[in-house]
Amino acid sequence: MSETKIPDVVVVGSIAFDSIETPAGKRPKLMGGSASYTATACALLARTGLVGVVGGDFPEAYLDVFRGAGVDLAGLERVADGKTFHWDGTYDADMNNRTTNCTELNVFADFDPVLPEAYRKSPCLCLGNIAPALQAKVLDQMEAPRFTLLDTMNLWIDQTRDDLMKVIPRVDMLIINEHETRELTGKDSLLQGARDILAMGPRYALVKKGEHGAFLMGRDFYAAIPAWPIERLADPTGAGDTFSAGIVGTVAAAGNLEAATLKQALVNATCLASFTCEAFGIERLKDVTKADLAAREAAFRAILP
Ligand code: AMP
Repeated sequence: MSETKIPDVVVVGSIAFDSIETPAGKRPKLMGGSASYTATACALLARTGLVGVVGGDFPEAYLDVFRGAGVDLAGLERVADGKTFHWDGTYDADMNNRTTNCTELNVFADFDPVLPEAYRKSPCLCLGNIAPALQAKVLDQMEAPRFTLLDTMNLWIDQTRDDLMKVIPRVDMLIINEHETRELTGKDSLLQGARDILAMGPRYALVKKGEHGAFLMGRDFYAAIPAWPIERLADPTGAGDTFSAGIVGTVAAAGNLEAATLKQALVNATCLASFTCEAFGIERLKDVTKADLAAREAAFRAILP
């Protein structure tokens, strides 16, 4: 039996069936979930281990997507008689907003993550979008991570705010979109909202603004980045999770949080997320190579002033 290696990055989050409708079309039961996007993209940059749960209905072909990307699956639990998490969402005409039609937690409702021994020693942890109580359970098992990234969503801000407020102070960076920033902090100004997040404990607040890019604020650091212009947007689902992968994967590969690393992380995050938006679900992302990423980075840098 081969021994599990210590991953550079441990990714936890949802692994899902996504039923998605955008102005570009409608697709039932795609491979999705926050951890699916993050782990698949992160594996391009660093050795990645996945923590999550799927039901007996999760197709082997979907697991092969992880395997093909080089994601370690020692932390993946399969509940043979359970059903995989299912999310159903519909996007507005401009794809800036979406409505959740249903969220069925299924096997995630009883998920009690137990990390493989090797994962606990990993230097980097990405707590993808899932119930904050589960994120805390994973964080509890890590021995001494040097970089922890936390994602969340409006559902958890609304329904489990107390749990979320216990996890936020324990991480190095919170990644959050503009609507969630306003919801979490009550501030209309995103800069003021980001300052409030820093006051909660994290060293960095990373605020995503969809097609308007993102900014990263630290106590002595600020950087802003535009988005890659996408002419034919197919499906923005997972763009945020893919963005997280660019951040944590770059930090893991560099092994530091220097300003140059953080700026490169923003570029990698932007470029990786752009691939996700070009097709439904994980269709484009799963085939992205290092060469594709390098080419997109060169094209992106060429349009920066
Ligand atoms: P994003 O578009 O980056 O916000 O991420 C979309 C992914 O989040 C989809 O693949 C969904 O399966 C997943 N998702 C949606 N709602 C939830 C939830 N309540 N908990 C965990 N994952 C979710």
